Amino acid sequence: MSDKMTIAAFSSALVVDDSRSILDYFNIILEGLGILHVFTAINGKKALEILDHEQDIELLLCDINMPEMDGIEVLRHLSERNYPGKIIIISGEHKRVIESSARLAEAYHLNIIGALTKPVTMKQLRCLLANTEHHTPAGISPALHEFSIADLQQALDNSEFIIYIQPKIDLHSQEVVGGEALARWQHPELGLIGAEAFIPFLESNELLYRLTDLLLEQAMLIASEICKTESDFKLSLNVSINCLNRYNLPDLLLARCLELGIRPANLVFEITETRLVKDFRKVLEIMTRMRLKGFGLSIDDFGTGYSSMEHLQNFPFDELKIDKTFVTGASDNAAAKAIIESSVALAKKLDMLVVAEGVETREDWQFVTRLGCDVIQGYMLARPMPTVDFLEYINSKTYRTELRIPPVTS
Ligand SMILES: [Mg+2]
Repeated sequence: MSDKMTIAAFSSALVVDDSRSILDYFNIILEGLGILHVFTAINGKKALEILDHEQDIELLLCDINMPEMDGIEVLRHLSERNYPGKIIIISGEHKRVIESSARLAEAYHLNIIGALTKPVTMKQLRCLLANTEHHTPAGISPALHEFSIADLQQALDNSEFIIYIQPKIDLHSQEVVGGEALARWQHPELGLIGAEAFIPFLESNELLYRLTDLLLEQAMLIASEICKTESDFKLSLNVSINCLNRYNLPDLLLARCLELGIRPANLVFEITETRLVKDFRKVLEIMTRMRLKGFGLSIDDFGTGYSSMEHLQNFPFDELKIDKTFVTGASDNAAAKAIIESSVALAKKLDMLVVAEGVETREDWQFVTRLGCDVIQGYMLARPMPTVDFLEYINSKTYRTELRIPPVTS
């Protein structure tokens, strides 16, 4: 079915390997998969010559360890030529080397669809090619707009920022127990814009405080709406550590909770750090008082650059959120597995809840379940959605059947 059609969609392929017998082997299996024109190159240089003459080679399989020009160098040359075809790495090297090569190809914005360890079977290749739809197009990102402070100021004045919510599922109860509030900009001309496209322009600017306050108020209103039916619901909000800049913030938040009829425990602050903590003592005091009043504190993007062990030691977090870069595709990445395992062990020792974000496939889901995470979030469950849709989503309870939750292996 679609499997065959996808494979048939490739009409030409190039295999680069320094072993003649491996070239012959791939020649046979690629032809067997219905690819009409299969080219082979015994080294990197030869491969680039072939690409000079054959402009529309759609698929390239490349070995890593080759004399003279190795596969890593080939990737660089492909990037310089803006090679648009899909790439598969085939290698007998250590898994970590293969993974790093694939990562490098991604960093070069090449259209890498997978990396296979030799010996590669026809079945593996077929599966990979049949699944390419899910992995492509790789490396494309929406064109980045430069926003000026005046643009953002105006957007704030016009109340163009809104909240989208992405659900979180508890792996023990298999219920939606919370959601992450994510900022979106409803731009009058550009349409809906994600936070990553405009937050960087706000950092180190007073406007970030203003936006944070505005989103906090929106989020608390949303939480009060949800908690009418789901009293234990936890709505998470992203707050930059340096936005914890007012001594009376815990009191203001608590007062607003009382007004809205929600408990502090209904709110979780996902603390992100973008640079050094400006005023350590002030942040420590505010965070400690927030916990004291019952608000949740989550260390966001755990494992990446700024979310350090030092923060974990200093601040009273009760939730650890493992960054998506470790979670997505973790099941076949030994380093990611080790990082998740250690993070879970660390969190459990510190009596923290572990959230895995970036769960995109059933494999990711089962994998983080097995490793002991408590809560998951990601495209596998649902994409961020407007508040109205989210309310419908949790009230209908249809997500359980829609998601066809896989059996939890403990
Ligand atoms: Mg977050």
